[in-house]
Amino acid sequence: MNKMQLKFLSRSENEIFARNAVAAFALSLNPTLSELSDVKTAVSEAVTNCIVHGYADREGWITIDCTVKGDCLHIQISDNGRGIADVEQATQPFFTTLEGEERSGMGFTIMQTFMTEFSVQSVAGAGTTVSMSKHIGAKAEADAR
Ligand code: ATP
Ligand code: MG
Repeated sequence: MNKMQLKFLSRSENEIFARNAVAAFALSLNPTLSELSDVKTAVSEAVTNCIVHGYADREGWITIDCTVKGDCLHIQISDNGRGIADVEQATQPFFTTLEGEERSGMGFTIMQTFMTEFSVQSVAGAGTTVSMSKHIGAKAEADAR
């Protein structure tokens, strides 16, 4: 088992830092380029949500906790921003509260699709935590069969 934690400000330039840091940490699992790209995309979507929704009109801290356990990568991405009143609704494809601002409402759906497990915990007015995990090495196993 291995762990790391990252804490950074909700500035847009930190999105690229965050996704690459998580990808670098995941390298110990010997992922394929496609698995790595899935992880980067999911992290990027979650961090962008913290920046544009969680801390819409201010700057705040974003925390990423990563654990490698067996062949699984667990990622938790948290903000202490405005939170989500209705998580069920927010995770529906195409649901967005920023219509007309080039948001398509697909961020959560992308995270769900690219990761093996996905869940959202949120308290309105207090913050949001996205938990995701991905089983790494699925392709290697398939090739070996
Ligand atoms: P896209 O990701 O396609 O650019 P989007 O961000 O609106 O659009 P999702 O990422 O699926 O779509 O998020 C859906 C909605 O959930 C958002 O419009 C927002 O209302 C809410 N939301 C998501 N993440 C957070 C967060 N960290 N804090 C507060 N609200 C959030
Ligand atoms: Mg989004």
